[in-house]
Amino acid sequence: MTIFDDSRCCPICNSRAKTVLSEICGNLKIMGSHFPDVPSNNALCSDCGAVYVDTTASQDDFDRYYQSMAKTIRYSDAFGEAVTNEYFDRIFSAVEPYINSRSRILDLGCGVGEFSEFMAGKGYKNITAVDISATNIAAARQAGVNASVGNAAATGGFLDMPGQKFDLIVFSHTVEHIMNMHQAMQNVKEILSENGVLFIEVPDASEYASVEMPPHFFFTYEHLIHFTTDTLQNLSNTFGLKLIQTKTYLKCDRYHVLYGMFCHGSRAPIYRETRTERAIREYEAICREHLKPIIEKLERDKEQLILWGIGASTAQLLNGNFDRCNVIKLIDSNPARQGIAFRVGGKSLTIEAPDTITDPGATIVVLPVMYRDSIIRQIRSDGLTNRIVTLASGN
Ligand SMILES: [Zn+2]
Repeated sequence: MTIFDDSRCCPICNSRAKTVLSEICGNLKIMGSHFPDVPSNNALCSDCGAVYVDTTASQDDFDRYYQSMAKTIRYSDAFGEAVTNEYFDRIFSAVEPYINSRSRILDLGCGVGEFSEFMAGKGYKNITAVDISATNIAAARQAGVNASVGNAAATGGFLDMPGQKFDLIVFSHTVEHIMNMHQAMQNVKEILSENGVLFIEVPDASEYASVEMPPHFFFTYEHLIHFTTDTLQNLSNTFGLKLIQTKTYLKCDRYHVLYGMFCHGSRAPIYRETRTERAIREYEAICREHLKPIIEKLERDKEQLILWGIGASTAQLLNGNFDRCNVIKLIDSNPARQGIAFRVGGKSLTIEAPDTITDPGATIVVLPVMYRDSIIRQIRSDGLTNRIVTLASGN
C-alpha cells in the first residue's frame, strides 16, 4: 500500500509516495537519549525505487549523535596497515586519472583524517579534511592533517571559506549517514570546481545478501539509505551531475562497497528502478532464514527468554523476530540504554541491568554475534547459571 505522510521524503527524488518494506527499529532512543521515541522503517520510494530509512528523527538528532561519538577508529588499527593501504589504493586508482599534484582535494567526512594522510603520502599537498566530530578533527590535526569541523548537511554550506572550490571531493562512507541528503548534495555540488570530480563510496546493497555478517548487520540505524548502482545513477540525475563510472569491490576484506565518480553534467530523467528493492528483499529473506531455526526452536519450547545485549547494532533484532517467543526481559549492561522501552510480542519491555536477573530457569539469548564470547564470559562471571543461546548457527 502506498502511503503519503509528513515523515521523510525520498532522499533521491524528493517524492513522499512510499511503501514500508519492514521495521528496522522500534525506538530510536537506542541511539541516544536525545533521540525521540519513534520507530524507523525501510521505505521503498514509489517513484524512483530507492530504499531509504523513514523516520521522524531529524538531521539534528543524527548530528548530535555523531558530534558526541568517541573518536572514529583508524582503519589501520582495525584491519592492519596492509589491508588499509590496499583499500586506500583502490580509491586512489579511481581518482588518480582526474587529479594532479596541485589539485585541491576535499576529504569530506574524514573521520580522523587517515585517507588525507595517505594522499599526502602520495605527494598531494593541497588537502582539506572536514568532519562533523571535533574529537575526530583534533586527532586529524595531531596527525598533521589540515582539518576543520564542518557538517556536510549544514544549511547554506559547511566551509568557512567563501568561494573555495575543489577539484576532487572524496565523500566516502558519509552520504548514507546523512538525513538531509539534498542539502548535502547541493553543498557538495556548489564547491565542486568546473572540471572537478566527486567520489562517493557507500556500502553496496546489491551484495548485502552475499556477505557472512550477523543478521540485520546492514540495517544499522546509522545508514539512512541503501545504495545500488541505480541509486547512484538517480542521484546523479537529481542533482545534474554526470555519473562517469561505478565500481564495486570488497572493503578491507569485510563487505562490498560501491563507488560512483561524478562530474558536472546534464540532468537526465529519474527512472523507476527495481534493483534496490530486490536487493533489500533478498537480504531480509536471508536474515530471516539465518534466524529461523534458532527462533523457531525457542518458540516451540515456550521457555522464558531474556534477550541480552540490546544496542545500536542489535535492537533491530526486536523488529518482530521474537514476537512469538516468551520474552520476559531485555538486558544491557550499558546504563545509558537501561530504561529504553521496546515492544516485543505485544508487550512493552524496558531494558534493564544484568543484576535484575533473578530467574535461573530462564534462557539467556545473547544477541550480539561479534562480541558473544566476551558477553558469555561476563554472564558466567556475574554468577548466572542460566542456559545460554547465541544467534550463531548450530548451537
Ligand atoms: Zn525516490
